[in-house]
Amino acid sequence: MTSRASPEWVPGERLTRQRPPEPEPPEDAPTIGVLALQGNVLEHLRALREAGARAVRVRRPADVEGLDGLVIPGGESTTIGRLLDLAGLSEPLQGLVAAGLPAFGTCAGMILLSDSLDQERPQPLLGGLHVVTRRNAFGRQLESFETDLDVTGLDGGPLHAVFIRAPWVQRAGDDVEVLAEVDGHPVLVRQGYLLAAAFHPELTDDRRLHRAFVTLVRQARDARRVAADAAGERPG
Ligand code: GLN
Repeated sequence: MTSRASPEWVPGERLTRQRPPEPEPPEDAPTIGVLALQGNVLEHLRALREAGARAVRVRRPADVEGLDGLVIPGGESTTIGRLLDLAGLSEPLQGLVAAGLPAFGTCAGMILLSDSLDQERPQPLLGGLHVVTRRNAFGRQLESFETDLDVTGLDGGPLHAVFIRAPWVQRAGDDVEVLAEVDGHPVLVRQGYLLAAAFHPELTDDRRLHRAFVTLVRQARDARRVAADAAGERPG
């Protein structure tokens, strides 16, 4: 194996070599944007492509054009929230999520999708998901851990999940379905076309959650098309 000290060493080579090339999207693939201001952007782009989506970066308001879904990655929610405002993305994304755009928030992304947080200090959020979320909820000793989750409705056995300074859902509205818990605390929830995970599904090779989100995005797109056809908006 090539080591850092050897003359053949190329930075990043091991990282690009150890993964197969990203697949081309199928013809009818939905387009899913990954909010690309800070955090685990590349991992989500790859995971979405592996799950059968066309995945694009969202950095500025023009990038939201034509999106069928949105992923908000993990990172630092205070930083991402501030950058959302600076980029002029808060309002357009809030509008789209409120209008039914499917969104999947992971870790910091779950925090940003939350309607409110269990903390005094205010911080910018997108909201839309009817939950109160507690940041860094697992405390110091469990800053990072991995565990196998039983996920409601997910075929194929337990889901291995990586938690990094993870939040949990402290309180959830009646329309929020809890799909997985750790010690009685919700860590995977769904509300209509919104999905939120306290952990990092982009950091493991299990693509079941990304595939579930792509399915949700396809369902939303089909529903929109049916509604548009009924309203006579689409020719033929
Ligand atoms: N603790 C971070 C926050 O509050 C989230 C951590 C993560 O996304 N891995 O934003």
